[in-house]
Amino acid sequence: MGIVPIALEQIDQYALARIIQKNPQYRLSYTKIIHKELNTMQVNRRWNLGSDICPLCLKEVEDWKHITLCTHEAMINEKKKVIAEFQTLLDRHRTYPPLSDFLIEYVTHNDYTTPIEPLLLKPKYTILMHEAYVSQSMIGWENFSRGILSSQWKRIQYRHLLDKEYKDIHAVDKWIRMVMKQLLEFHRSLWKIRCDIVATEKEQTYEGRQRHDTLQLCKYLNQDPESVPEEKRHLLEKQDKFFLKSPFDNVVMWRKKILSYINNALNEQNNQSISLKHNTQDLRRFCKVARKQKKKKKGKIRKQKRKRK
Ligand SMILES: [Zn+2]
Repeated sequence: MGIVPIALEQIDQYALARIIQKNPQYRLSYTKIIHKELNTMQVNRRWNLGSDICPLCLKEVEDWKHITLCTHEAMINEKKKVIAEFQTLLDRHRTYPPLSDFLIEYVTHNDYTTPIEPLLLKPKYTILMHEAYVSQSMIGWENFSRGILSSQWKRIQYRHLLDKEYKDIHAVDKWIRMVMKQLLEFHRSLWKIRCDIVATEKEQTYEGRQRHDTLQLCKYLNQDPESVPEEKRHLLEKQDKFFLKSPFDNVVMWRKKILSYINNALNEQNNQSISLKHNTQDLRRFCKVARKQKKKKKGKIRKQKRKRK
C-alpha cells in the first residue's frame, strides 16, 4: 500500500478486516483491489502478455486507476449506478450532510489528485473535518479511493449522531464499514463490468469459436460413441459449461486427447486389416508350396514303385 508507518496507525484497520471477513464471496476481489493487484492490461504487459491499452475504450493504458476513469459507455453507466447506491446508503446511515456531499463529490470527480478540503460552517465540525483531512492526506488519497480510511472520519459522524441523539451505539462502526465497502465496491463492480465485456468479446473471437466447435464435437461423439475406445468414453460425459466456461487450456487438452484416441483406434483398425491381408497371402503361398511338395513326393513314390516292378 506504500504507507509511512506513522500513517499506518491511523488507518481503521479493524473495520477493513471486518469487511473482508464479512464478505467471503468478495474476499479475493477486495484484497486484490486493496493491494492494486487486479489483472489489468498493464499487469499483462509486465508479464509480456501483450498490450497495456484498455480493451474497452482502446485509448488509455489500463492500470488500476483507469478502471474508475474509463470513458466506455458501459463503465460510465455502471459508475452512475454505484454512485446512486452510495447516496442511498449514506442517507440510510444518517450521514452528516456535508460529509455525505464530500464523499459523493469525491467518487463522482475523483481523478486521483488530492481533493479540496471541505470548509464547514459549524466550528466544532470544522476542526474534526480538518483533522480527518490531514490524517487521510498522510495515508494518501489514492488509498482513500480503495477504502483505506483514517479512523478520524468516524469522529465527524459520531459528533453528528450525538447531536441528533441517535441511540444505536454501533451506528458509527456500521457507518465506517459501509463507506469503506462502497469505495471498494466502486472498483469491484466496474472491474466486473469490464471483465464481462472482455469475456463476451472473446466468445466471438478465435477462442470462442474453438470452444463452440469442441462442444459440437463432444455432442456429435455422444450420438455415435463407437469411434471412441470404450475405456475412454467417460471423457464424453462433459457438461456444456466445461467447454464454454472452464479455462481454455482444459478445453484444448480435451480436444487433443479425444482426437488422438480416435486416431489411434483408427490406425489400429487399419493395421489389423493390413496384417490380416499379409497373413492370408502367406497362408496361400504356404499352401501352394505344400501342395507342390506333396505332388513331388507322390511322383517319387510312383517312380520307385515302377522301378520295383
Ligand atoms: Zn478504458
